[in-house]
Amino acid sequence: MSDNDCRCGRPTRNNAYTCDTCADEMFKALGDVPWLDEELETSTTKVAGIDYRRVGGGKGGKKPAERPSPVSWGASDARAHLRAIMVAWVKFCAETDVRNSSPYPGLPNDTLPAMSRYLMWRVDGLTLLDIGPDAIDEITDAVAKCHKAIDTRPDKWYAGPCNAEVETVECGADLYALADRGDVKCPVCASVYDVGARRAWLLEAAEDRLADASTLARSVSWLGAAPLNAARVRKWAERGRITAKGHIDGRPLYRVGDAITLLAKDAAPDTTDRKAG
Ligand SMILES: [Zn+2]
Ligand SMILES: [Zn+2]
Repeated sequence: MSDNDCRCGRPTRNNAYTCDTCADEMFKALGDVPWLDEELETSTTKVAGIDYRRVGGGKGGKKPAERPSPVSWGASDARAHLRAIMVAWVKFCAETDVRNSSPYPGLPNDTLPAMSRYLMWRVDGLTLLDIGPDAIDEITDAVAKCHKAIDTRPDKWYAGPCNAEVETVECGADLYALADRGDVKCPVCASVYDVGARRAWLLEAAEDRLADASTLARSVSWLGAAPLNAARVRKWAERGRITAKGHIDGRPLYRVGDAITLLAKDAAPDTTDRKAG
């Protein structure tokens, strides 16, 4: 017996404002948060396994050594958004004393996993409020954005540190490009660089790094050479097109530069494969 229909059009039970299916959706979204938190942390603080603090040191002098790791803004934005949404709903639940059977009194710790647990205890309580569908919409949407940030490439590209000299000191500001071509402007000293040239330079700095198939795939894809997946790296290895240069825990390690060269070869428009296929 219910006067309400859910946002999805299904009838609800017990005068709730949300149907069981939508409540389950929110429950599932909250259940993903601890895992997402860890994944987003990884994508935010280190991109694709290449640590620019350790590449290219020594030769040339102008390599991006001693720099913080590039940041994937896609992941960091999605995480900040999820956090803001969760804080708002935790506050709402606490202030309005949303019905719950949680055995833990008080507010959760200020972490995404703790807040998600807190909210999971209150999903049923929220479905009884007319504001409940808003909670479901906002939380499931924020969680979906996080999944997307992990699955897709970042929407800003790290283009290395600015090496313009400003009053005899290297500027050093981190450059982020919006696209993989065109210009990138330093936010500090306004120097302008060609994105393509910057990326080539970063690739060169990463070339001699060794990585296992999946790290290699992520690194090379991130650097924008072309999308690459681990399966393709393994296929290359089976066919002897790429050779392991080392091993870690039994996993073969390949040279980043070798993968870039192979990708470029496969992508060249005038390969002999083209006639055949
Ligand atoms: Zn529904
Ligand atoms: Zn600069």
